[in-house]
Amino acid sequence: MATKALRWPAIPRHVEGMGGPIRVKLVRRVRVEGVECWGSWHSDRRSVSLDCGAPREHQWRTLFHELTHSALDDSGLGAQLSEAGNEAICEAMASLHVRLMRARLATEQ
Ligand SMILES: [Zn+2]
Repeated sequence: MATKALRWPAIPRHVEGMGGPIRVKLVRRVRVEGVECWGSWHSDRRSVSLDCGAPREHQWRTLFHELTHSALDDSGLGAQLSEAGNEAICEAMASLHVRLMRARLATEQ
């Protein structure tokens, strides 16, 4: 049986984070400390940058990852963990949210 492609909604420009509003920007290139990546969380500006050239589902995955960074920072938990610990939690939450969203989109479409 062929699987119908899911239609992922547009990335929101603003989301409500744990510690207040977060601006989401789609940009041509995302760099963190000179290294190109899919997205980044800027705690000083309360904004997330996402690569505008990535497939929509991957933009959502990256958004969930970066929003988890924001929640870890807002809670103070991020500072208690190693970088690897922060990244592992962000990847786990991104995977969970993508699966939840896939299931929701599959029932809606
Ligand atoms: Zn990360």
